[in-house]
Order: sequence, then structure tokens, then C-alpha cells
Amino acid sequence: MDLFKKCHDYYPIVREAKRTGFYPYFRAIDSEPDRRVVIKGKSLLMLGSNNYLGLTTHPKLKEAAINAVRKYGTGCTGSRFLNGTLDLHEQLEHNLAEFMRREDCLCFPTGYQVNLGVISSLLRRDEYVVTDKLDHASIMDGCQLSFGKLKRYMHNDMASLKHVMESLESNAAALIVSDGIFSMDGDIVKLPELLPVARHHHAKVMIDDAHAIGVLGRRGAGTADHFGLEDKVDLVMGTFSKSFATIGGYVVGDREVITFIRHHARALIFSASIPPPAAATVLAALEIIKSEPERRVRLWRNTEKMLKGLKTMGYEIGTAETPVIPLLIGDMTKTINFWHDLYEAGVFANPVVPPAVPPNASLIRTSYMATHTDEDLDEALEILERIGRKRGIIA
Ligand code: PMP
Repeated sequence: MDLFKKCHDYYPIVREAKRTGFYPYFRAIDSEPDRRVVIKGKSLLMLGSNNYLGLTTHPKLKEAAINAVRKYGTGCTGSRFLNGTLDLHEQLEHNLAEFMRREDCLCFPTGYQVNLGVISSLLRRDEYVVTDKLDHASIMDGCQLSFGKLKRYMHNDMASLKHVMESLESNAAALIVSDGIFSMDGDIVKLPELLPVARHHHAKVMIDDAHAIGVLGRRGAGTADHFGLEDKVDLVMGTFSKSFATIGGYVVGDREVITFIRHHARALIFSASIPPPAAATVLAALEIIKSEPERRVRLWRNTEKMLKGLKTMGYEIGTAETPVIPLLIGDMTKTINFWHDLYEAGVFANPVVPPAVPPNASLIRTSYMATHTDEDLDEALEILERIGRKRGIIA
């Protein structure tokens, strides 16, 4: 038996896709990650980033990152737990806790690690973690890493959640975890309906606001802010890899709970801390999120324009209601062909095919930025209409 046989069998599939130009992954961008990008000399309109507020190229963020390197150097060479905590990390956690109106905040090297660390540290044997079927992979991985028991409910279906909760032993301890904005479908968790179910069963609630921070809510503070339920969610996590324009993640909640996670989350304790330029970038981005609500207004104007334009053309967009708008296609080959034509026409979008989605549920994920101009979006709509018709995706 050869352990590497699976690799030898897999390799020709990737090689063939690359040879024919139908390989949509790991595309190297040669420019700043902005509303337009350059790949191998070709300029493309970016409809495939998570740069919702368009802050990755903001001069104040760049300056903050450069100044942090000058003051603190390039990295921390260790975990927060031991040698990797800077006053900058403490400042960041303080400012984020304040912005999120929570007692305490803890930052992790990535958002992925937040979900691994929080879920696996909180769940003990005979305790339950209850997740939406479309929750992000990092939530699933956190569940697998924990000693708790996993139960799943149908996507954003509160009757299904109720059913699952009723199936648990009457005094079972449980954590319900849901994406705030779902990363592929672009819909919002029905939080006002979820919370009473949780309360009835004495379950705790954790919301993953990776796509909602900076995007949803009157203050841009995410899903709970959007629904006016900021003091009702037990734990909110988020990432710095989207609206905050860098890398890292955080969780906010009550002091005692965050203190427990700080001392038990292996994904935090056994991994090096966020590098100084990233921490400084988040601090600068937070100030912009607070002081420039017009970016959020612009993002939502762009979102409304694209939701309306795509629906009018006849695209299936499911329950999308945010800057994440999937074009639901179904067949995998059709999806890859459509992606290829979009790319050739100068649009960068992301094909999502099994196993990331169920068989026959392939889609093109598009997403929008505050800094897209009307001309950008008109160009996008024109290309999407032309190619959608050519490929028989819209009539
Ligand atoms: N949660 C959700 C819903 C996400 O979409 C992502 C990233 N795609 C993460 C968590 C992980 O975040 P990060 O990129 O910081 O690891």
C-alpha cells in the first residue's frame, strides 16, 4: 500500500484543468487587492473579494501598518500566552470590546482559529453544539475538535432548530452557533427568532460575524447591531480578513467567559500572535468604521443595485440580501464554463462547486464593495447579462 497513491491519482486532474485554462483556484494577483486587480497583465473587475469597505488600500491603514513595523518590528515570534503579547494587542482588544459594547475581547491569529479555539474549549463531554447546516467550515472544524456532541438544523429554519433543541435531554448544556451573514448564500440569520428558542432551552448563542462586521448594523457592529439585540448574544466572533482589511480574528463576550477561553483555547495558546502591522491595521480600520458611516451607506447602495439588477435579468440568487450575492447554477460543468467566460470578459468571481456545496448546487459567488463605482457595477451587469444569456443561465 502506498500512502501517496491518492496524490498520484489526483495530480492529473489538476494538471489537466490548468493545461486547458479551466483552473479557477490560487490565481496570483499582481496588484493591490482593490476594486480592479491585475492578473498576468490582465485587468479584472473584482467581484470576488471580502474587502467590503474597500479598506485594503486606504492610506491611513497602510501608514498604521508601516509605523507599527517601525516601532515593533515584523512579528512576535510567540503565542499571546507567553512572549507574543504587545501593548498593541491589549489596545486592540480594549477598543474592540468597547465598539462591540461587551466586557471583554480576545484576539486570535485568524478567524478560523477563533472558531476552533472557542468551540473546542467551551464544549465538554455530554454538552451539545448546535449548528446551522450552512455554517462556515471553521465552525464545523471547531465542533469536530471539541468533545461535545454535534447536532445540526436546517438552514435558517427556526422550526428545525426548535425540533433539535427539543430532542436534547431536558437539562443539557448547549451552544447554538450560527453565521450572522452566511458566507455563500448571503442571507442573514433570523436572530430575533433564534434567541427565544435558545432562551427557552437555556442554551448559549454564538454568532459568527465574519461577513457582518463593518457591514451590518446602524454602527457597523454586525448582526446583533442590525437587529438591535446587542446585549442578547452571548458570544460574537469576527475576522480581520474582510472589512478590517488584514488578518486575524476576535471573540467578544462576558469577562469570565472570555477569561476561560483565554486560558483554554489551544488554537490561541499554541499559535503565534497577530503580527504588529496587522494589529495596527485593525485599530486604524476600526476608527474608519466608526467615523465614516458613508462607506457602509455606499456599500448598501451598491448591494441594492446589484440585487435588483441581477434579479431583473433573471438570475437565481436564492435568499441573498447582503453584499454577498450567489448566482445559483446547479451543474458543476456549467458553473466552471460560466466562470471561465466571465474571467475572459474581465470579471473576477468565485466558482463554488462540490464538496463545498452539495451535488448539483454549484454557484458563482459574487460580492460587492463600498468602493465599486456606478460605472464598475454597470460594466459588471452588462457582462453578466451577455454571458449569462450565452451560457443559457438566464433567458
Ligand atoms: N467564519 C466565516 C463565516 C468565514 O467566512 C471565514 C472566512 N472565510 C472565517 C470564519 C474564517 O476567517 P479567517 O479568514 O480570518 O480565518
